[in-house]
Amino acid sequence: MESRDAKPESLCLGRRDALVTTSDLTSLRERRLELAARLADTQESISRACAGAGRGRDCVTLVVVTKTWPVSDIKTLTELGVRDIGENRDQEAAAKYAQIPDLALSWHFIGQLQTNKCHSVVRYADMVHSVDRPRLVSELDSAVTRAEREPLVCLVQVNLDPGDGDRRGGVQPASACELADQIAEAQGLVLGGVMGVAPLGGGASAAFDRLRDVAGTIADDHPSATIISAGMSGDFVAAINAGATHVRMGAAVLGHRDSLR
Ligand SMILES: *Cc1c(COP(=O)(O)O)cnc(C)c1O
Repeated sequence: MESRDAKPESLCLGRRDALVTTSDLTSLRERRLELAARLADTQESISRACAGAGRGRDCVTLVVVTKTWPVSDIKTLTELGVRDIGENRDQEAAAKYAQIPDLALSWHFIGQLQTNKCHSVVRYADMVHSVDRPRLVSELDSAVTRAEREPLVCLVQVNLDPGDGDRRGGVQPASACELADQIAEAQGLVLGGVMGVAPLGGGASAAFDRLRDVAGTIADDHPSATIISAGMSGDFVAAINAGATHVRMGAAVLGHRDSLR
């Protein structure tokens, strides 16, 4: 039996139903060490990839994708210097945000978005990466107006996987410029750039090159739309080589999720 098991069960902080046990504190401390180590490794890998691509480290923002992980992890990551958090489901993101509205974080919504969730998303999101159809532009725009908030930065999600139908979301590359124009014209929205997810079967480099081409075409008309959100834990090096300005990484920092999502 480990020695910590012999210590008193609780430290009796706060109300009786909010007891913090020593084993809770031990696991929080262990989790903090794990997150600190994984985050440092991830930052180092990103720095190496930037150097390899001949780009400055400050060209790339790490968005830590915290989906499925608890709010305690987000708090710890904030203490470790993380400033950008990604979530892919409104219900989960809204519930997390409600617990930590005052943390100095930028919230990135990166998942497929239903129009009836727009009014919720605009209450906490600083950037929506996954705008992939005109209806979403109009719904987000009116939700921003109703919420009387600052303009919402939106990215055009481009489908990089022709063989995959529309399952992973994203507008076809040929329609990306039109959608970008619509975002740029919306009063409550700011066109930030583009986002893409590499095909499941591989070919990330070619896919991210395609995304960079689309980004370049959009930037011809909208020079301030400089964001390229591309790359996850498994393919961020290819994304950085192809000009990504934002990488969205979950597993590398937090560990592997139980479910595939
Ligand atoms: C989950 C998710 C990520 C992060 O994936 P990891 O493999 O955990 O790094 C990035 N982008 C999107 C759109 C996601 O849903």
